[in-house]
Amino acid sequence: SLKAGIVGLPNVGKSTLFNAVVENGKAQAANFPFFPASLELVDIAGLVKGASQGEGLGNKFLSNIREVDSILQVVRCFEDNDVVHVNGKVDPKSDIDVINLELIFSDLDQIEKRIEKLKKSKAKDSQSKLKEESERSGLERIQHALMDGKPARSVTLTDSEKESIKHLCLLTMKPVIYVANVAESDLAEPGDNPHVKEVMNLASELQSGLVTISAQVESELTELPSEERIEFLNSLGVSESGLGNLIRATYGVLGLRTYFTSGEKETKAWTILAGMTAPQAAGVIHSDFEKGFIRAETVSYEDFVAAGSLAAARERGVLRSEGKEYIVQEGDVMLFRFNV
Ligand code: GDP
Repeated sequence: SLKAGIVGLPNVGKSTLFNAVVENGKAQAANFPFFPASLELVDIAGLVKGASQGEGLGNKFLSNIREVDSILQVVRCFEDNDVVHVNGKVDPKSDIDVINLELIFSDLDQIEKRIEKLKKSKAKDSQSKLKEESERSGLERIQHALMDGKPARSVTLTDSEKESIKHLCLLTMKPVIYVANVAESDLAEPGDNPHVKEVMNLASELQSGLVTISAQVESELTELPSEERIEFLNSLGVSESGLGNLIRATYGVLGLRTYFTSGEKETKAWTILAGMTAPQAAGVIHSDFEKGFIRAETVSYEDFVAAGSLAAARERGVLRSEGKEYIVQEGDVMLFRFNV
């Protein structure tokens, strides 16, 4: 399964969010099996200033990050005088800088060591030499970017450079999603909160994803009986819990998409790669579906939810017939017609 690591400074709401997401995930899977079980959240608490200095635990946190496929950084955007902020005030830019610097230091250290090693290399055959040259040129460009405070993922690399540096598992190469943790009063219009605005700007500058969520609301949702959840969410001006957004954003940065099939008994979620055509998406269920593909009755997620079922969607005229060239969109609900 894919791993997403939750990082962030102390007291930003990581544990609250982690526990709530795990609980909500279980609850939603039972009621509405829309969330595939293929995403695993890993709580990586303890990434603090100085982690890259190699002081015992710090190193361990960095190696935990090395193993995840994407990084979710929780950024505190809620004010609460009862919850101490490590730096004395809510300051998303500083929080993001602290974590980024640790990851950058760690990568720089690794790259320096690797370049030294490559310099001493006595590779003989021309193919190994070429490979090493490509690795070195890629690493040197990344080194410059890092010294400029930019992540490795912002550097454009050739395919062979990418391939040759893969073994280093650089931390700043991993996709990042900033999770702006807001007060419940900000959920409906998060952009009105200047802290969130700042995180939005940084996310686009650093080629990262963004989700706004209220860890506290997610946590309160786990305490409510399912009938009362929607009412509670509506009272805050939103229609669904943050879980869906979090999963969609994580899948998004990994180049993954989810589509659904909906029968009388159950609705199932399927994971595909971005850009897959309808027959390829059908092939994820069974290769016969791909081979015999004729067409796919398709409705968008929003239209499906509004209608309530495929039959109702058909009556409303929002069910489309899509052919072999159709690129499946995030959240599509599909019924495949195929020859056996
Ligand atoms: P961590 O250190 O990042 O894991 O932070 P925790 O999840 O332990 O949260 C630290 C404190 O902040 C706890 O007292 C939480 O109840 C509180 N907290 C977390 N999220 C929110 C939030 O969205 N709003 C408010 N007001 N408090 C929160």
